[in-house]
Amino acid sequence: MKATNPRNVAKVIANGRKPKRIERPVDGEGHYLPVSSYFGENLFDFRTAPSIPESVRKEILSVSKSGNKKISREHAEIVASAVTDWAVSRGATHFCHWFQPLTGSTAEKHDAFLSFAPDGRPIEKLSASQLLQGEPDASSFPNGGSRTTFEARGYTSWDITSPIFLKKSLNAVTLCIPTAFVSYYGDALDIKTPLLRSITKLDKAATEYMNLTGHDTKFVDVTCGCEQEYFLIDKAFFASRSDLVMTGRTLFGQLTSKNQQLSDHYFGAIPERVLAFMCELELEMHRLGIPAKTRHNEVAPGQFEIAPIFTDANRAADQNMITMALIKETAEKHNFHALLHEKPFAGINGSGKHINWSMGTDDGLNLLEPSKEPHQNPRFLTTVSIIIEAVKRHAKAIRMSIASQGNDHRLGANEAPPSIISVFLGETLDKIYRSILEGATYVHNTQNTLDLGATQLAHLLKDNTDRNRTSPFAFTGNKFEVRACGSSAATGFPMSVLNAAVAEVFEESNEIIKSEISAGKSIDEALTSVTKKWLKNSYDVVFNGDGYSKDWLVEAEKRGLPNLRTTPDALKILSDINETKFLTESGIFNQTELTTRHNVLVENYNMLRCIEFETLLNLIRQHIVPSTIHYKTELATAIKGHKEVGIDSAIEFEMIKKLNFTLNSLMTCVNSMENGLKGLTENEEENSFKIANELMPVSEELAKFCNQLEEILPNHLWNLPKYYDMLFIR
Ligand code: ADP
Ligand code: MG
Repeated sequence: MKATNPRNVAKVIANGRKPKRIERPVDGEGHYLPVSSYFGENLFDFRTAPSIPESVRKEILSVSKSGNKKISREHAEIVASAVTDWAVSRGATHFCHWFQPLTGSTAEKHDAFLSFAPDGRPIEKLSASQLLQGEPDASSFPNGGSRTTFEARGYTSWDITSPIFLKKSLNAVTLCIPTAFVSYYGDALDIKTPLLRSITKLDKAATEYMNLTGHDTKFVDVTCGCEQEYFLIDKAFFASRSDLVMTGRTLFGQLTSKNQQLSDHYFGAIPERVLAFMCELELEMHRLGIPAKTRHNEVAPGQFEIAPIFTDANRAADQNMITMALIKETAEKHNFHALLHEKPFAGINGSGKHINWSMGTDDGLNLLEPSKEPHQNPRFLTTVSIIIEAVKRHAKAIRMSIASQGNDHRLGANEAPPSIISVFLGETLDKIYRSILEGATYVHNTQNTLDLGATQLAHLLKDNTDRNRTSPFAFTGNKFEVRACGSSAATGFPMSVLNAAVAEVFEESNEIIKSEISAGKSIDEALTSVTKKWLKNSYDVVFNGDGYSKDWLVEAEKRGLPNLRTTPDALKILSDINETKFLTESGIFNQTELTTRHNVLVENYNMLRCIEFETLLNLIRQHIVPSTIHYKTELATAIKGHKEVGIDSAIEFEMIKKLNFTLNSLMTCVNSMENGLKGLTENEEENSFKIANELMPVSEELAKFCNQLEEILPNHLWNLPKYYDMLFIR
């Protein structure tokens, strides 16, 4: 194939790529080392590092639990010095505080270890205060108007519960210290701080619940495992699609006749070049102590998934941020570009991030394990009823927490859960709960329901609960799966909201349990009262049917379940005091932090959409219009030539007419978009609604006309990589 236009040049390049061989760790004899031998080698966790004296470790941990004492300088110095030795011996020259500002990505500012001893000798040093606290210039991070520039100081503070890690690139090795990021006034300017607060809150409430109901535990950990979906396309195509570069998604593109209807990509053999990439990704993840576990092809062509073994929610959130960054970096090394956007290609599946969520005690009991032991089940049934109540009560806030412009393309698009938040339980649990609701209490009905449910539960539930992919919040055997979260999202925000909601209902349940027990009821009877109360209140949020069906929209409305369709609809919740009271009263967010988030998220939505609109207009002017005119000229020349030799040109005339019509329609739409953009004002919230309700439909119309032109124009005049190229050539 002779490359004549940028699209074909890219095709030739992509076609010629070979899988990249990587250096897997080997022993002295050249045999591959097992993963366990290098797992976590790029991590420094002061809680397990042999170089930290036991007394120091204990003291720091006790300080962190108490919340109102400070880590002593002397102890911080010991950790800082051990970390420095460890990092420098591994080639690190710099350290940084690694944090998650409200942009949703991560931030880092590097400082060299290089310092001078009192006698003037150059040394490597990280001081206690450099470990504990940083002061990045915060003025450029989104603050939603919560600070003015002169008080733009922000502080980062060491999160001792997330291990310090080494980030390696071509020539640099950097020590990254996970930190929280707060303002001068102590308001959280990041995603981690509220997450940590919510974990503490839920820990406290769930621990009390477990202890009240007869299971001694010192703490309850919130656990998470994030299934991460992504697309890979060849780098050469990426560079020639400015919409992908600017916005992460194709703003138009004609769907190929074969795409995902045959489901032949899902779980299919992983293409060699992709597997080579996955091996390098997993190698780096394992070195960083991220337990990558599953990998497979996803439903759409070019779409893949990776999931680690779950861990505590804070660490899982950090690990997912690192994983997303690693996916991007590693893809580049394999001449791919990884797309983490929720909807890179119209017409085929988008990408989600299923957040598997549960809670576990200090002795490893999973609160959502149905268990084969019948006497354990009342507590399990109550726990699930508490979660049902929490989701029903705070459905709007949960919907808000997963809102983003990218996710708007996914939610309800017949491939992802709808924007209506409901709970999927599966048949077995549903039957048990219905019998409880109908008054056949499980205590009296053990023979019929509980025993049956209990002996089969563990087995049955596991087998039959994963079938419903249409639910935003599904019970999957021994955990819930938040399926509505978008692939590019930071998990910390939705997790904070969910933890807060569940903690609130745990607290109320604990009060009921206490008063029932003091009134002489048994633990099981008290649990039954709680279960019944929550089921009566909120069982209508449970939906085990097809979330994609039109009927569900109607049914959900009848049930009074909210359906916040777009991001602006959902973000409005952040300024509704009634809907956010549970977040402020629990201390997980303060009012300033909520306002900040509201402003940042609305502004972000507007900016990202406006970038999409401008990019689309630009592509139309730079590519679509010139190519269309080019084709018209070709046709006109042909018609002229035909006339000279007396050949009929009816078809060519038809083609020109069609081109003119489509081009005119496109340009009318371009006009409406330009006028619409001019009509945006200073009022960001107003703009967001205008963008979602007026400009988005225009941009979809624009895409439709672009697609029509892509269909009509001959291949040699279409300069932009097509879906065919991007999705099928690798
Ligand atoms: P599937 O695709 O069938 O939903 P995967 O194996 O891809 O399942 O992902 C399931 C995820 O759920 C994994 O990350 C796993 O570690 C996680 N998980 C399992 N048990 C728990 C739990 N108790 N708490 C949180 N996450 C869990
Ligand atoms: Mg999976």
